[in-house]
Amino acid sequence: MTTNPITATVDFNADGVQHGFLKLPYSHDASAWGSLMIPITVAKNGGGATVLFTGGNHGDEYEGPIALFDLANQIDAETISGRVIIVPGMNFPALLNGSRTSPIDRGNLNRSFPGSATGTITEKIADYFQRTLLPLADYVVDMHSGGKTLEFLPFCCAHVLDDKDQQARCFAAMQAFNAPHSVMLLELDADSMFDTAAEKQGKIFIATELAGGGTTTPHTIEIAKKGIRNILKHAGVMQGELEVSDSTKLDMPNEQCFVFSESSGLLEPCVSLGERVKTGDLIGRVFDVERTGRAPTEYRAKIDGVFTGRHFPGRIAMGDIVGVIAVPM
Ligand code: ZN
Repeated sequence: MTTNPITATVDFNADGVQHGFLKLPYSHDASAWGSLMIPITVAKNGGGATVLFTGGNHGDEYEGPIALFDLANQIDAETISGRVIIVPGMNFPALLNGSRTSPIDRGNLNRSFPGSATGTITEKIADYFQRTLLPLADYVVDMHSGGKTLEFLPFCCAHVLDDKDQQARCFAAMQAFNAPHSVMLLELDADSMFDTAAEKQGKIFIATELAGGGTTTPHTIEIAKKGIRNILKHAGVMQGELEVSDSTKLDMPNEQCFVFSESSGLLEPCVSLGERVKTGDLIGRVFDVERTGRAPTEYRAKIDGVFTGRHFPGRIAMGDIVGVIAVPM
């Protein structure tokens, strides 16, 4: 099998804290023999579990990168047992560009797994995680938010898995993260996701969706930082009691949870995140922006639950998500 062109400037087996790069050759107009330098920190002290933290899988989702750059600054090898691998900007070109996908190849990293060592830049990054970093990990925490086009109630999520023991370990990690909401997430497009790659390798995998809109708040950053501290304790890498507050458990049992727009125009939201809705309740109206005198298209809940996610920008296009409704467990 072809060797991945990425080389790490850190030694994953050395004790101590190392700050370095995943160096990916990238020959382009401004740098003929240049490389992409993806920041990475490895902290290790003896044996124990390995926790892989990733942010910036999508480049317009910021709680993860901010909390993980902060963790990389703060981490002290003497206070851990085991290993922590921190990649705050997985799709680093996308993070630099403030966009969901890579400006180099338009690659959506979280739809590029298992990747390819001979593929596009984004596929090469995916392949490195698939074949080098995931095998090192026991726990994988992939920190997302809604990005520029979605906004969520802040939640940590795990997936329904065929292996019920693995599912139980993932759910325990989700509860330990202790975001304000804990969601059994239904993925509509799971095959090529990092989540699925990690789960197929038997890892304890959790992800987050912490607000969105292409920005952060002190509240959502603190949810990320507290969750990171809790996971390190849950994995036995750090000592201490978990910091626990209320977390509402939500399920997404089927595709009725998602309401998609079948028109384009201006979105009038009719419920706020966190509100209870019943089947048939109006959740949004879309006005035709090109003429007056036309009634807006109405979008209604298809399931009873909690309004958990929404389209963020004022303009909406055909096929965009209007809203996401999850069901209290
Ligand atoms: Zn994302």
